[in-house]
Amino acid sequence: MTTLRIKNAFKRYPNGAEAVKGVSVDVEDGELVVFVGPSGCGKSTLLRMVAGLEDVTDGKIELAGRVVNDLEPADRNIAMVFQNYALYPHMSVRKNLAYGLKNRGTPAEEINRKVDDAAALLQIKDFLDRKPSQLSGGQRQRVAMGRAIVRDPAIFLFDEPLSNLDAKLRNQMRLEIKKLQRNLGTAAIYVTHDQVEAMTLADRIVVLNNGQVEQIGTPHEVYSHPASTFVASFIGAPPMNLIDATLTDTGVDIDGQSLGLQSPRTGAVKLGLRPERIQITPENGGLAVDIGVVEELGAIRLIHGTLGSQDITIAQDAELPEPSGRAGISFRTDDAHFFDTSSGRRI
Ligand code: ADP
Repeated sequence: MTTLRIKNAFKRYPNGAEAVKGVSVDVEDGELVVFVGPSGCGKSTLLRMVAGLEDVTDGKIELAGRVVNDLEPADRNIAMVFQNYALYPHMSVRKNLAYGLKNRGTPAEEINRKVDDAAALLQIKDFLDRKPSQLSGGQRQRVAMGRAIVRDPAIFLFDEPLSNLDAKLRNQMRLEIKKLQRNLGTAAIYVTHDQVEAMTLADRIVVLNNGQVEQIGTPHEVYSHPASTFVASFIGAPPMNLIDATLTDTGVDIDGQSLGLQSPRTGAVKLGLRPERIQITPENGGLAVDIGVVEELGAIRLIHGTLGSQDITIAQDAELPEPSGRAGISFRTDDAHFFDTSSGRRI
């Protein structure tokens, strides 16, 4: 079953800015879908349209089979978690958790039960009588999630909820959100500009660029079959190398060097190679790369060099001997991605 259906959604702000330009996305029951893209790509606007915080200029938002375009946020059966927590500072944690339910006239007994259940689930039982100012950032974020959970919504909407936390806590909370969402089995949309967060959390990723969908797929699909150079360079760290190349009947030419491989067509292309899918060849076969700066990262090292006149990055197991001077590289044909030079789309 489909929890949420976004059909050809458009958003034009009163100043004429077109933030969302014809986006269609379905979120299935229990699924965690991440909207990811650079700042200004329209991901928050799209989430706010689902929440009812922004009018829909054109298109449809359907929740559980019902068009909700004209429904107030409170009537949509959604729960939103923001990066700034949006907790009431003068209320205790318990009151913060209970507030929405109380407003909806939920009986006191049921409120208490739901608040206690959520507090147990989020391990914030010991803090129920504290004010938000007496909590750490991670604990405040848990309370914000608790407030979403007690509403028992059709869908959770997360708007960059972890941005205010330090890197270590962010990783920990990310895992907690994933576990929690799995256990509750409630559909969720999670908005982030961070591709690592998108890759680790998502059942499916929606990559947005300039108000439009670049690609929708599982983390594995967007990593292994990026639909465009935009996705190729946005997903994966370090990003995919995108090299100007010419395909011939027999292989590929790069700045005067040739390598035999099966190519989908002839002519100019962008050749995409993931740094971690390039091998340094011991006997200096394949294409010759001039080795430049090497970064040791512990388990791997990043080797920055030039292939003809073009920059290339290679990720290598740090246990392997470090190359220097000029080295040969090779890659499997399956690991070569080809993109159209003008449209940037995958060939
Ligand atoms: P993201 O969340 O991906 O950073 P946003 O959805 O916030 O992107 O914004 C998408 C585009 O819409 C941007 O160009 C932004 O400047 C514009 N925008 C966002 N909010 C408004 C607004 N209230 N009025 C006018 N333009 C806006």
